[in-house]
Formats: sequence, structure tokens, C-alpha cells
Amino acid sequence: MAPTEAFAPAKINLTLHVTGQRADGYHLLDSLVVFADVGDVVRVTPASEMLLQVTGPRASGVPDDARNLCWKAAEAFGAPVAIELEKHLPAAAGIGGGSSDAAAVLRAMEAAMGRRFEGHALALGADVPVCRLARAARMSGIGEIVEPVTVPVLHAVLINPGVEVPTPAVFRGLASKTNAPMDVLPEKGAFLPWLAEQRNDLEPPALVQAPVIGDVLSALSDAGAALSRMSGSGATCFGLFEDAAAAEQAARRLQQAQPGWWVTAARLS
Ligand code: ATP
Repeated sequence: MAPTEAFAPAKINLTLHVTGQRADGYHLLDSLVVFADVGDVVRVTPASEMLLQVTGPRASGVPDDARNLCWKAAEAFGAPVAIELEKHLPAAAGIGGGSSDAAAVLRAMEAAMGRRFEGHALALGADVPVCRLARAARMSGIGEIVEPVTVPVLHAVLINPGVEVPTPAVFRGLASKTNAPMDVLPEKGAFLPWLAEQRNDLEPPALVQAPVIGDVLSALSDAGAALSRMSGSGATCFGLFEDAAAAEQAARRLQQAQPGWWVTAARLS
């Protein structure tokens, strides 16, 4: 039987405002999330028992057992499958690799099994509900409120400097956990000036954990990005460019200057 394939796009937090913390410890977020045309690929085949093979250029270090979110997603769906996870995204990088992979497994299993996933996507991770939508959305609550929004297509360079930033330490380092939510999205035009006024509240504490994030943000600005910011809890940052050609040219130059960094041009929508 041919496997059912699904794309697991990188998730980029264009904004990430931390607006509070619940009594149970979960943080309240207000985030504008978009998805890239770069990502992982999952292939799912019905099987008699769970199997997971991790392949691709970023497979190293990614768990190939029940610790992997792909495996957990298949278990939550409730049917054994053989999964091939072709890894292109850096792990623990703030671009939702595991969450997007889990959402892609659910999508592939829905197609392969001909039934809807009736489980609880949020239980797999705060980013899994938005990754199931896989298009521009405002995400709030602890990740369970996902509202599709329209944003202009953006041309970006994504950079990960190869440093894993521990998410709990970043949240612990927040100077304040009750920050203002995002401003209302502009109806038409003026998107970049609006975006520039918004924030990723996790950027300052992540910079303390991994000062190299400051080098990445400077490199993106120096390469001509109109705006550069960190995604998620880091360390991946995005820079926004005028058009696809400018992003591709900047990505080539940045990769040449820093061969050890993961650098890619991407279209965000
Ligand atoms: P987010 O943007 O939501 O913060 P992230 O990019 O920080 O996500 P992941 O890429 O999901 O986080 O990786 C976090 C950890 O989860 C890794 O260190 C890895 O051990 C584990 N993991 C579980 N499943 C996967 C997966 N499918 N791909 C990568 N890592 C996974």
C-alpha cells in the first residue's frame, strides 16, 4: 500500500505576546502565526504495530520512538501506522518542528483512514492546534484559540544558529508575565509598520540564554531585512525582505558568511 504523505511546514511566530499565566502554570499567549514553504514531510502507512523511521538531513538526534510527537499523534488518533518522518527543520528551534510533524501525521491519518481525528490536539502540545490549520492565524489562550487571519505573503530568511534554547528557562526569565496583547491587525496595507510595533516577549530572555541570537538578528538587519525578530522561544529568527529574489540573495550571502548556521529563504503565508 502506498504511503499517504503530508507536508509539515515550519511555524513562525511573527509576534508572541505573553499576556498572563494561569494558576496551573500554563502561559497565556497572543501570537500571530504564519507557515513557511519549507518543512518536514511525513509518510504514513497503516500497519499492525507502530513503527517510526526518521530520515532526511536533520534526522540526527530526533527520537524515533514513543517520545516523538509523530508517534504520540498516531497513538492519539488510535490506529497503528508505520511513519517515515523526513526531517528538514532543526529541532528545538522555535519553529514548531515536532508540533507541525504531529499535525501532519493527523492530516495524513485522516486521509488514509477516511475519518476525522476526534481527539484533543492541544494535549499533544500548545502549537498543535494552530499547526493543524497550517495557515496564518491568531493564536491565543494557551494555544487552543485559533482564528484564521489574512496577512500579506511575506518573503523571509530563516536562520537557526544551532543553539538549543531551553523553553522553560526562557519563560522563567521573563521580566513580566502580564504584557499587553497584540494590537488589532490592520485591515488593509500598513502591515509591516504594524508588525514592527508588536513584539516577541520571549526574545529578551532568550538573548540572555543564547547571546548568539543577537548576532543572528544583526546579521539579518545588515543583510537588508526590513524587520527581524525571533520565532517562538528561539533560537530561530526571521528577517523580512522586499521580495523572493532579495530573500534568496540574502540567504545565499548569510549562509556563505556563516556556514555553521541553518539558513533558508522562505515564503510565509
Ligand atoms: P516550538 O516552536 O513549538 O517551541 P520547538 O521547535 O522548540 O517547538 P521541537 O522541534 O518540537 O521544538 O523539538 C523539541 C524537542 O522535542 C526535541 O529536542 C526532541 O527531542 C523532541 N521531539 C519530539 N518529536 C519531535 C519531532 N517530530 N521533531 C523534532 N523533535 C522532536
